[in-house]
Amino acid sequence: MMDASDCYDIDIWGDNMQRCYDSACCGAGSENVIGSFYAVLGVSNVFHSAYCYKNCHNIFGSTGLIQKQYCILNKQYAKEEYEALLPKIIEHLKKTGEWGEFFPIQMSQFGYNETVAQDYFPLTEEEAKAKGYKWKSKDLREFKPSQYAIPDNLDDVPDTIINELLACSDCAKNYKIGEKELRFYRQKSIAIPRKCFNCRHSDRKKLRNPRRLYPRECSQCKAEILTTYSQSRPEKIYCENCYLKEIN
Ligand SMILES: [Zn+2]
Ligand SMILES: [Zn+2]
Repeated sequence: MMDASDCYDIDIWGDNMQRCYDSACCGAGSENVIGSFYAVLGVSNVFHSAYCYKNCHNIFGSTGLIQKQYCILNKQYAKEEYEALLPKIIEHLKKTGEWGEFFPIQMSQFGYNETVAQDYFPLTEEEAKAKGYKWKSKDLREFKPSQYAIPDNLDDVPDTIINELLACSDCAKNYKIGEKELRFYRQKSIAIPRKCFNCRHSDRKKLRNPRRLYPRECSQCKAEILTTYSQSRPEKIYCENCYLKEIN
């Protein structure tokens, strides 16, 4: 969050943003946005709405609006009508416990296991469903056998590989190579991946340090520090001061 004030429970991004609550992807002049997603570019008083852009003001429960004012459920109201209706709606939502809350999980278009939540807070299918989350089950149409053998040598890879259906060497899920992707591999002399996007992502995640902190001593000045490198790892770990001295 950059350049945001009086905001709470916001994910991304700021840039002259004020008094926003329980919302995601808001910024560039967003003011008094509550329980919304993507209310951006000089908008104000936007409640429980999504994708309301550019100078939208006084909007409730709407989606996909540009330069609109006094809309409820995407219907245009006169200023006086809006101001009379909104307090009644808020009063009702306070009784049901929905006022100010982000969109309920039932509205998510994605399975829990398709999101980064699964990366950081992994759940089994049963656990996720018990919490009311959707779950993306295996779609057999995405697991067709591949008839194509990827050449071992990048120089032998033809341009037509972008038309081929490939199958992951780990999970057997199908994937394709894009035209720009192929160009990138050739520029950087990177072999064509044998794994699908998800398996490559999961391999990269395994290279990261765990999301927990271990108490350790700075290898230089012996100050007590917290680090994602556990005590059993062989790397030299410096405190911030010693690190900065070392690299400057
Ligand atoms: Zn895979
Ligand atoms: Zn130190």
